Amino acid sequence: MECAKCGKPAADEQCGSCLVKSVEKKARKALPKITGNSRILVINDGSCEGKVSEYLARKLITITEVSCSKLPKEGYDVVLHAHTADKKASDLLEFMLESRKTEPAQSLLGQLLRKEIAAYAKIKNIACDAEKSGQMVEKLEQRSKGSTHALARVSEEILGLGR
Ligand SMILES: [Zn+2]
Repeated sequence: MECAKCGKPAADEQCGSCLVKSVEKKARKALPKITGNSRILVINDGSCEGKVSEYLARKLITITEVSCSKLPKEGYDVVLHAHTADKKASDLLEFMLESRKTEPAQSLLGQLLRKEIAAYAKIKNIACDAEKSGQMVEKLEQRSKGSTHALARVSEEILGLGR
C-alpha cells in the first residue's frame, strides 16, 4: 500500500510521518486563543484519547502552563476535553435517538478519528489499552468513509461549539 499523501510505502492509508503531521495540524487548528496568562486544564481520564490530548496540549501550548486532571475543575480559562470526531458523531446520534444532550466541550481532537488517535499513540509510544471497537459510528465509517466527520460537523451545529 502507498501513502495517500506522499506515495511512500505505508501499512495504512497514510504513512507514519504523514499521520503525525496531519494529527498535529488538526490539533493546532483546534487550539483556542491562548495568552501567557491563560490557565489551561487538560482532561486526561487515562484513556488513549485523554493521553494523546494531554501529549498534544503540552507539545503545542508552550506560552503558558498546562495543568492536567482526570475530571473538570473550576478556576481555568480553558478546559480541553478529549472528544474526538467519533465522540461528537455519537453525541449527535444519542441526541437524535434518545434526546440525550451532551454539553459541548472544547477539544483538540474534534477533527480527528479514534483510529487516528490510536495510530498516533502507537507511533509516539504512548501506552494505550486495546481498542474497543464495533461502535455504531465506526461501523458507519467503515461503510461510508467520511461519515464521522460529516456527523461531527452536524453535531457541532446542533449541539454547539462549531467553528
Ligand atoms: Zn506519507
